[in-house]
Amino acid sequence: MHILVTYDDGIYAPGIYALAQSLKKIAKVTVVAPDSERSSVGHAITLSHPIWVRKVNRKGRLFGYGVSGTPADCVKLGVKVILKKNPDLVVSGINLGCNDGCSIFYSGTVAGAREGALMGIPSIAFSLDSFTNPAFAQAAKFAIRLARLVSQKGLPKGTFLNVNVPNLPASRIKGVRITTQGKIPIHGTFSKRKDPHFREYYWLRGKSPVKKRELSVDTYALNQGYITVTPIHCDLTDHECLASLGNWRL
Ligand code: MN
Repeated sequence: MHILVTYDDGIYAPGIYALAQSLKKIAKVTVVAPDSERSSVGHAITLSHPIWVRKVNRKGRLFGYGVSGTPADCVKLGVKVILKKNPDLVVSGINLGCNDGCSIFYSGTVAGAREGALMGIPSIAFSLDSFTNPAFAQAAKFAIRLARLVSQKGLPKGTFLNVNVPNLPASRIKGVRITTQGKIPIHGTFSKRKDPHFREYYWLRGKSPVKKRELSVDTYALNQGYITVTPIHCDLTDHECLASLGNWRL
């Protein structure tokens, strides 16, 4: 098995190191990731600038390829230029911060997996539900298990798996839930501040935590201490609305 690994926090982040080292136990791994952090770039691709690629060492050994582009660029370029063939799997992560619910529209980590799915390659995104004191071990361990299963069973064309893992020790993780994507939009709030030149600026603050006992939804199951696995497809057509639009006499 050959796995292409990417991640929006960049090739020097701890999360991608944990993921790559873990997946190397079961597969040949090629790391192609942005050369600096590109969090929240969504599914952007680079069309108006050149894209530079250079080899990156970590801990004195070749770790992968650092790319001056987005996670989606990395998957495209990784497949077309570096591997020159489809890998068996694209795996993105392990992100610092969860990507549940509507986060998937903003997340570069999720976009890496979505790009793989768009290219017809089975793909998985992994995110850890914390920004501080990340413990990647459980997520990295689960990545091995899920990568093996996906390579055995495959996924429908255009569908990838979005995985969120609580930042808890193994003994406190309650299990794995197959979930739907949460629907709470991320409104956030802007805090207003002043720079050293007394000019006002704004900083968007993230979503607030939500608690509900609906364990079929990623956001709530994750908050209750479950690993969540949500199948996401690239076809965003609303088929119910499609039928009713037919009656509009456009
Ligand atoms: Mn990120």
